[in-house]
Amino acid sequence: MGEASNITLQLLGAGGAFTRIFGTTCSVLTLANDERWLIDCGRQAPDQLHAAGIEWHAIFGQLVTHVHGDHTFGMEDFAFSRFFFTRDGVDAVREGGPRPKLVCHSAVQEELWESLASSLRYVPPPLAPKSGTLDTYFETIAAHASEPPIDNPWHHAESFRAGQLSVHTTETEHVPGKPSTALTIEVGDGKVAWWSGDSTVDAAALVALEPRTTVFFHDCTFVEYPGQVHGSFAALEKLPLSVRKKIVLMHHEDDLADHRDRADALGFRVALPGQTYDLQTGQCLATLAD
Ligand SMILES: [Zn+2]
Ligand SMILES: [Zn+2]
Repeated sequence: MGEASNITLQLLGAGGAFTRIFGTTCSVLTLANDERWLIDCGRQAPDQLHAAGIEWHAIFGQLVTHVHGDHTFGMEDFAFSRFFFTRDGVDAVREGGPRPKLVCHSAVQEELWESLASSLRYVPPPLAPKSGTLDTYFETIAAHASEPPIDNPWHHAESFRAGQLSVHTTETEHVPGKPSTALTIEVGDGKVAWWSGDSTVDAAALVALEPRTTVFFHDCTFVEYPGQVHGSFAALEKLPLSVRKKIVLMHHEDDLADHRDRADALGFRVALPGQTYDLQTGQCLATLAD
């Protein structure tokens, strides 16, 4: 533990939108010098962080894949806690303390503000009433590069650098027309770790990315239905073994135990809350729960 060059990902929640067992999505990405980022901040995130002994004031920045409650409904708590309270030597934002950084695709950022504005636009004097914006609470990071639009206004990838983080947010197919992105996180030596957010399976993209990827975290559902919006297991199991062996299935439903043997036999690993992964090797280091 503690090697400055370690890049780790701790899963606080590993379940899907309606989970009652595995926790909604929130993970702690720790970069060099213990710089901590959250990947998504679902409706259970404030309690998940508390249970893990991690204060909002220990978080350097927030990454957001897309705006659904199981990914972003903890952010009001994050914004207000940092704005109003001084803790652990970190000043409240309203007293000049550092704002957490915010990294997300511009189209996702627009929807994020739509979902938070009804709370966050009300700010105390001497600020003007209703003058709050995302930047009142977070230091929003602008993309340093973007791929041109493909077939709708938001449909392009954007790349960001902030602190020790270098990440590409790439459009995915989730709910039709809705901005939603996967994260390709640089982990050194030309390698990347990949996080699907919520996405259907793009086999060609995964196969192309595999040689330089240490680990893929892919959302997974065992439920088949027309108009699939998640990573269908039926599609995931058709991926080549070289890709499957690097995939950690996440965002699964509570019936995981019914499918676990099949997933294990095909070479997949399964995300559980409390697990920590080394993103430079792709290996699971430890599990805090149980
Ligand atoms: Zn979700
Ligand atoms: Zn979603």
